[in-house]
Amino acid sequence: MRFRLVRLSPVLCFLSALVLSACSPPPPADAVLLGRLFDARNGRVIDDAAIVMANGRILCAGPRIACRWPRDAPVHDHGRAMLLPGLIDLHVHARPHYADTFVPAGVTTVRDANNTLAMLDAVRARPYAPTLIASGPMLDGPHGVLVGADTSPLGDGEPLAPDTMPLVVHDAAQARVAVAALVAAGIDWIKLYERMPADAFHAALAAAQAAGLPVMVDLGMMLTRGLSGADIDAVQAGAAGVGTLEHLGGVALAYRRLGGDPTAATLRDDLLDTLALDIAASGMAVVPTVAATHRFAGSDAVAPDTLPGAALLVPHFEAYWTWLSGHVVAPGAQANAAADLRLARALLPRLAAAGVRIGAGSDLPAAPGLLPGAALHQELDALVATGLSPVQALQAATSVAADILRRDDLGRLDAGARADIVVVDGDPTQDILATRRIVAVWTDGRPVDLADAWRTATAALDAAAAQ
Ligand SMILES: [Zn+2]
Repeated sequence: MRFRLVRLSPVLCFLSALVLSACSPPPPADAVLLGRLFDARNGRVIDDAAIVMANGRILCAGPRIACRWPRDAPVHDHGRAMLLPGLIDLHVHARPHYADTFVPAGVTTVRDANNTLAMLDAVRARPYAPTLIASGPMLDGPHGVLVGADTSPLGDGEPLAPDTMPLVVHDAAQARVAVAALVAAGIDWIKLYERMPADAFHAALAAAQAAGLPVMVDLGMMLTRGLSGADIDAVQAGAAGVGTLEHLGGVALAYRRLGGDPTAATLRDDLLDTLALDIAASGMAVVPTVAATHRFAGSDAVAPDTLPGAALLVPHFEAYWTWLSGHVVAPGAQANAAADLRLARALLPRLAAAGVRIGAGSDLPAAPGLLPGAALHQELDALVATGLSPVQALQAATSVAADILRRDDLGRLDAGARADIVVVDGDPTQDILATRRIVAVWTDGRPVDLADAWRTATAALDAAAAQ
């Protein structure tokens, strides 16, 4: 008898635990969202799903029958609308006067890719600022296109001035000084630009790795100086341990070093395959920013017309876009951008097939027609037009983006993640343009007052225009 009880006890404990958990009250919840759910990590849609939130975090997300919540918790039933993780734009240049446009457009996190410390503080101070992950000022060689005549290198131990941008480095020692100053300033990423001398490039990379900071690089495109500006090409950057390759920079140079002509109308399959496999082997992620390339190539495939906030914001930026088109885009740029686009179209599906992580970034406001805030939706459209599936594009702005940022609390709708959620009308896994139809946005477990956010964003633009 005694023997039998001992054998039965684990079974009884298991059954009683099941009964107890079913009978115990569910934990307190601040809100519950019902709808269809995009499971970003697995790339699938869960019909009839629920998200339960408390204290800014997700307590439970998945099939409705798998989640419980108290009877008095506020329930927002979105019917057939889709619940997405808050979207992530991996490449922006944020400014305070348009910092409030991201969140109402569903972009709850951005990574800034070159800015002054003062500007980053001003962006963070805005009422609807997204979560901001930033590189601070990028590093470039003394002959960089954005390096002014009066920019001198930092002295050893000298703190970074709030208005420094970019940080000029001549050699390896100065690169180490610059990285140390950025680490002391508390930035999240190191950005290296196209004209870093090779020894300074490798020294900066090693210093960043020693400090535990990931590195992003812009090695130039054919549109910019990608065949003449940088010493380092995309494959070398990957092999050296770079975290993300921006704009597919340095890819044209690597293709030419393999023996191909990246400006040719027809590209060689064997060289493209080699390039994709070399990048995949390195583990480097890419942030191709193809919407900007489409815009520079004169394509109207990613026009801003139907974007969230377009009616309010387009009038504020038309003059700037005209100036960009007339003064920044040099003669011949459109043909070079078309060559960049041809290379991106040929390479991107190969990179995806080879397992390279592809992240979504807009490069806002670098190209004419990229709409502040909503430019990520243009990038999602462009990624699909350049060879990704809608599911892969959505992952590029959610789970893959969070993985690139090394943030397991972002980009997914799972227990423990931050309750940053976007609700859209329609199914963006079938039609990527559905991401633009924003129904609701939640940040940190709180609903965003979209009307107030757009009012605030417009007022900031009006105030900037009046200055
Ligand atoms: Zn950029």
